[in-house]
Amino acid sequence: MSFVDLESGLYRFDVGTGSHTQMIDITRQVQEIVAHSGIVSGICVVFIPHTTAAITINENADPDVQTDFCKEINKIVPWEDNYLHFEGNSAAHLKSSMMGFSETVIIHKGRLLLGTWQGIYLLEYDGSRTRKVYVKVMPG
Ligand code: ZN
Repeated sequence: MSFVDLESGLYRFDVGTGSHTQMIDITRQVQEIVAHSGIVSGICVVFIPHTTAAITINENADPDVQTDFCKEINKIVPWEDNYLHFEGNSAAHLKSSMMGFSETVIIHKGRLLLGTWQGIYLLEYDGSRTRKVYVKVMPG
């Protein structure tokens, strides 16, 4: 796993997505950054600087949840619906804003304070591409 240590608790890593709509578990990468930072108690912000991808937290046990999640959101926001946007990816822009561009997770005893079944996910809505993810960790 490689990440870039930028400055003052700010880190970045890249994720290559493999399909058009995809949910990728990035919990391990974020946890490695938290461990590297040495912060035992604090806050971790995971942020994606893109307009057709998003960050969320959801179940990491049954992979069918990810398949259902992608399938249903594509029904809620269909890819084709006479959108005006010249790039042709309005659906991806909409889904990204619906899901959001960041998550905040508590750091407790040097680890991300996530529920047993929770993972942090990068949501790809206009892949495949290389996506940047920023992680900011703050003691407190
Ligand atoms: Zn666009």
